Amino acid sequence: MTMTAVSPLPNIAAISSAVGGGVTVITATQRLARYLVSESAQHRSSVSRFPKILSLDAWLRQEWRQQAETSETPRRLLVSSEVEALWREVISRYESQTNAFSLLQPEAAAVLAARCRASLKDHRVPVASEKVRTSFVSELDTTCFLKWLDRVDIRLKHEGWVMPEDLPELIANEKKERGSEVWFLSEEAPVPSVETALSSRFKVIRWFHSDPVESGISTTGYSTREAEIAAAATWGVRQHENGRVSAIVLADYQRDRPLLEHELRELFGSSDQAFTDLPVNFSRGIELAKVPMFRDALLLLGLIVQDLGRAELTALLRSPFFTWLDTDRNDKSAVITHLFNSKRAVFELRHVLEALGKVVPKSPLETALSAARVDRLSSLRLYASEWRDRISSLLQTAGWPSASGLDSVEYQQLELVDGLFDEIEANSLDNEPYPLTLFVSRLRSVLSEKLFQPQTDVGKLQVMSLADTTGLSFEAIRIVGATSESLPSKPSLLSFIPWEICRSYQISKIDEEAHDKVTARLIGQLSSVGEVSCTYHRISDGTAKLASRFCDLSNAEVHSVARSNKGIVAPLESIDDSAGLITNLPNQQAGGVSLLEQQASCPLKAHLNHKLGVRPLESEAEGLTPGERGGVLHEALKHLFSSLKNSDQINALTAVDREVLIEAAADEAVRGLKAPVRERVGLSALDLERQRLSGILAAWLEVEGSRDIGFTVELSEAPLEWECEGLNLSLKVDRVDRLSTGQRIVIDYKSSAGQSATDWSQSPLKSPQLPCYSQVIADVETIAIGQVSINEPGYLTLGADIGLDDADKKNKKAMDRAGVSELAGLKDQWLADLRSLVRAFVDGSGTPTPSPSACRYCHYAAVCRAHLVSDWDAEEALSGE
Ligand code: SF4
Repeated sequence: MTMTAVSPLPNIAAISSAVGGGVTVITATQRLARYLVSESAQHRSSVSRFPKILSLDAWLRQEWRQQAETSETPRRLLVSSEVEALWREVISRYESQTNAFSLLQPEAAAVLAARCRASLKDHRVPVASEKVRTSFVSELDTTCFLKWLDRVDIRLKHEGWVMPEDLPELIANEKKERGSEVWFLSEEAPVPSVETALSSRFKVIRWFHSDPVESGISTTGYSTREAEIAAAATWGVRQHENGRVSAIVLADYQRDRPLLEHELRELFGSSDQAFTDLPVNFSRGIELAKVPMFRDALLLLGLIVQDLGRAELTALLRSPFFTWLDTDRNDKSAVITHLFNSKRAVFELRHVLEALGKVVPKSPLETALSAARVDRLSSLRLYASEWRDRISSLLQTAGWPSASGLDSVEYQQLELVDGLFDEIEANSLDNEPYPLTLFVSRLRSVLSEKLFQPQTDVGKLQVMSLADTTGLSFEAIRIVGATSESLPSKPSLLSFIPWEICRSYQISKIDEEAHDKVTARLIGQLSSVGEVSCTYHRISDGTAKLASRFCDLSNAEVHSVARSNKGIVAPLESIDDSAGLITNLPNQQAGGVSLLEQQASCPLKAHLNHKLGVRPLESEAEGLTPGERGGVLHEALKHLFSSLKNSDQINALTAVDREVLIEAAADEAVRGLKAPVRERVGLSALDLERQRLSGILAAWLEVEGSRDIGFTVELSEAPLEWECEGLNLSLKVDRVDRLSTGQRIVIDYKSSAGQSATDWSQSPLKSPQLPCYSQVIADVETIAIGQVSINEPGYLTLGADIGLDDADKKNKKAMDRAGVSELAGLKDQWLADLRSLVRAFVDGSGTPTPSPSACRYCHYAAVCRAHLVSDWDAEEALSGE
C-alpha cells in the first residue's frame, strides 16, 4: 500500500468532516492535535464525541500499550533518562574494558549514540546484515558504535525493555485489523518506520503538508542580536495591545528565549512578584538544569566530585540560594578575591574550604562542604535512596534554596524536587550502590529532561520555535533571528553512522535539502494564514551574520536604521564633585610608589586603586606571571648583591666563583616563592625560571663589572618612609650605591626598556618614583634605571657619571636637554611636583587623564568613561603606536 502526499493542509471544516466520516487524524505535534480538537468543537454535532485526532507520539504509545496489555511477555518502555543511563553504562564499561575509544566524553558519546540508534531504527536500517556491518567497520568511531549498539540491543532483549524508537517496528510486526483511512498532518514526511506502522493499521494513508513559501519574506535588519530581540518584544507588546492573535517565532529558540522573555517582562512590567502576570505563552519551557536554583545546586554537588573552573566557581559563590552569615559584609567578593589571588584556573574542594575558612569560618556553605569532605562523600557508594537523604541534608545545611526567600516561580520549581528524586530512585538500571559522581550525573540528566513552564495567564501572544507552529493560525507572525545559520536550522550530526549508510537509506536528519524544504513549508503555511515578517541581526558575539535565504532584503536597507534604544551612547552627565573622597590625615599609605606613579599617569586610576580599594580579580596563570617573574628577579639581585658588596669583589671573581654565586642567588630567589605559587606552576616551570635568572644575572654582572668608577652597594631592597603633605608613604628602594667619588646613585631595576630621561626632567613629572627617592635619601647625585635583561642590559641615568661609557654619554645629552649641570638643579622642581601630586590625591582628585600609555593596561577601562568624551581616541592611538 502506498502513501499519497497531498497539499495544502486541510482546513478545520474538512478535518471535522473527515473525522466524522471515520478518518483518524495524526499530527506531527501535540500542540496541533490539541488545537484541532479544540477548534473542531464547533462542529462537534457532526463529529464523534471523542474525535480521533492525536499526535504521532500519542498514537504510537496508545498502539503499543494495547499490544503490551495482551502480550504474554510484557515489555517495559524506557523513559529518556533510562535510555541515556543505559547508553552511558554500556559506553563506560566498553571503554574501561578496551580503552579503544577516547575521543569523546562518555556523556556526550551517549547522547550522540542514542540519536544514531533512533535514526537507524527510523529508517529501518538492517544492522544485522553483513553489508551494513561491513560499512560500520571502516572507521574507529563507527566500529565502536556498532559494538555498543550490539551490547545495548542484547541488554534490551535480556531485560525485556524497549526504547521509544522501537515502537513503530513492534506495531508493524503485529497483525491487526486495519482501519479505513488516516490523515498524517506534518510538514515532514513520516519516516519509513512510521509509514510502515501506519500501513499496518490503515488501508489508506494521506500525508498532508503545506505548499512551500514562494517569495522572500519582508525583512528588517538590526545591528545586533540584542537590538533585534528588544525590537521583537516591542512588536509583541504592540500586537497584544491591538488584540491580535500573534506569534514571535524564534529561529534559535533555546538561545533567544531567555533574552526575549526578559525584554517582554520589562515591557509588560511583570518581573518579581508579578511574575505570573505575563500575558505571553511560550511553546516550550526551560530545562530545569538551566534554572538558577537547580543550576547552583548542581554546582555545589559538582564541587564535591570534581574541580570547578573560574566561571562556575564564581556562579556558585555568588548564588543567592545559599545562606551567608552577614550579607552586608561583602564576604562573597572577599572569598572570590582570595581564591583568584592564587591565579589558578580550576579549584578543588580543599581550595574553596580554605578560602571559606579564612574569610567566613562556620558559614553554612563551609559547614556543608566540610561535612561532605569529612564524610568522604566523593568516595562512598550508596543506593539512590541513601544518596537522596545525604544530598537533601547537605543542601539544607548550605541553606539551599530559600536563603533569600523564593518568588512564586521558584516555589513552583521547588515543588518538583521530590519528583526528580523519585525518578532517580526509580531508575531500573541502578540495582547496586553507586558513587556520588553517578548520582550527580543522574540528577543532571533528569533536570535536563524536565522542562519548566511557569503557570502564567493565557494570552494572545505566543513565543514559539518554527517547528511548533505546524498547522497553527495567527494574524501576525514575526520570525526573529533569521540568519543564514539558523533558518533553516543546521542538520544534526550523526557521526557514528557511516556516510554511505546515511545516503543509501536517505536519512533525512543530515540532509540540508530536506531541512530547507520543511522550513519552506512551515513558512509557507504561516504566510497562507497571516502576515509574516522576518528580522535578522548583522553581528552576534563579534561575528558578522548574513540574512537567511528566506529573507527579502530589497527593503531591508530602509529598515536597517531601526535600532533598539539600547546600546546607544547616552550623553554623559556632569556632576560637580571637585573634591572626591578626602583623605583623613595623618595617614599611613602603603604602596607609595604605585600611588605616585598612578597619580602622575591618571589621577582616577590612583583614586580607584589607592583610595577606594577597587582592585581587579587576578587572572588565571599557568606559569609565573610577569609580576611574579619581576619579583623573583628582584630577589635574585638582592641575594647576589648581598654576597658581592662592591666593585672590587665583582672584578676579583673567578669564572667558577661567579657561576657558583649566580646559581646560588637564582636558587635562593626561586626557593623564596610562596608555596601556593610553587604548587601552581610546578617543578619544570621553576627549573626554567632558575635557568632564566642565571642567564640574566650573568649578563648583569658583565655590566656591573664594566663600570670604571668604583662603587659599594649600600642598600638593597630597603624599605623607606616619606612624609609629604601629612601622608606617610611607604616606599621600597631596589638599590643604592655609593661611588668612590662619594656620591650616591639610587637605582630602580626594570626588566624591559621603555623609559626615557625626559620623564624625569619635564614638569609635571611623568615618572615620579626615582625623583621621590632622591628626596628621601641624602647625597643622591644620580638616579638610574638598571635595565636587567639578557638582550640589552644597561643603565639609563640622570645626574653624575657612573663610569659606564654608553650610559654616561646619554646622560650628558639628557642633562643638556634638561638645562642643568647637576641633579640639584632639578630637585626643587621635583619636590614641588611631588607635593602637588600628593596634595591632589589627599584632596580626593579623581580626574581621568586618558592617554595611550596610561590606558593601555588600565584595569579600570570598564568603569571609566573618559574616552567617551575625550578627543583622544584610545583605539586609534594604540593602533598607531
Ligand atoms: S582608562 Fe585611562 S583615563 Fe580611564 S582610569 Fe584608566 S588610565 Fe585613566
